[in-house]
Amino acid sequence: MNGETLTGLLKKGQMILAQAGIKEAGLDAWLLLEYVTGKSRAYYFAYGEESVTESAAERYLELISRRAGHIPLQHLTHQAFFMGHEFYVDKNVLVPRQDTETLVESALECMKAVKNPYILDMCTGSGCILISILKERADAHGTGVDLSDEALKVAVRNARTLEVAEHAEFVQSNLFSEMQNIVYGTEYMKRTAVKDTVKMTECENSNRNYSRAYDMIISNPPYIPTAEIEDLMDEVKLHDPRMALDGMEDGLYFYRAITKQAQDHLVPGGWLLYEIGCSQGEDVAALLRKYKFEDIEIRQDLAGLDRVVLGRKKLQ
Ligand code: GLN
Repeated sequence: MNGETLTGLLKKGQMILAQAGIKEAGLDAWLLLEYVTGKSRAYYFAYGEESVTESAAERYLELISRRAGHIPLQHLTHQAFFMGHEFYVDKNVLVPRQDTETLVESALECMKAVKNPYILDMCTGSGCILISILKERADAHGTGVDLSDEALKVAVRNARTLEVAEHAEFVQSNLFSEMQNIVYGTEYMKRTAVKDTVKMTECENSNRNYSRAYDMIISNPPYIPTAEIEDLMDEVKLHDPRMALDGMEDGLYFYRAITKQAQDHLVPGGWLLYEIGCSQGEDVAALLRKYKFEDIEIRQDLAGLDRVVLGRKKLQ
């Protein structure tokens, strides 16, 4: 049977996406072809004239038409790559952004000298931040907090797939609201963990008795001012969960709420690290000053935009 060839399909895909105004039409058409056929680019270059089964061609064109409707690529493939790892994503979580790798790099640097660090990831979403840190630091343990039960299921799935489940617990909580009642360790984890959750054990290779204080609180909270959500591209505004984007009126709601309580949950000398929108650096740094954090820094992402604000709780 003379069906569509790889080359022919790719051209079709690229054309449809370009006509729909998809920015990376060429690349996305490629990635979807790889996804559907399982053939690498190297294979394509060598055997572009090979024909594709009818069902694969149909499936490809269906995905192309959904992508043409501005559904993010990652929602079609359920894959997002972050810090060199593959994360499962769906409509319940913000698609991990490359900018956020700057936050993870900063976190790893801050904790270089800390043994068995205990980390709280507030608004964990897919879990990509906490899990990427745990992949680099086998001696670390972490808590991922989110308001969304659906997001927590995704985070738990990722923690399992990426084999850090034994080093993390995931807790449904409105910021710190559930944390006042915490008896840390297995008991607490049993009581507040989401139903389908990771195996709740303490970090095995550590003698540390976990207290309620963390060495680091890290967060990429929702930070888009409500009125600006309308200006975002369709992929973001229509397909990322609104609750992962909406930072309320001035975009700073979550920074205020988290910073206000962060001191109570940090060890002396513990770090607070945020991802920020590129115009929020000074405002968030001022908040950290207001709540007595020290060594405050604003850091830039690879595009040179302000992307991270960090500070430290006083050493005493
Ligand atoms: N950086 C995201 C965006 O570009 C926003 C993420 C957030 O609000 N935390 O849309």
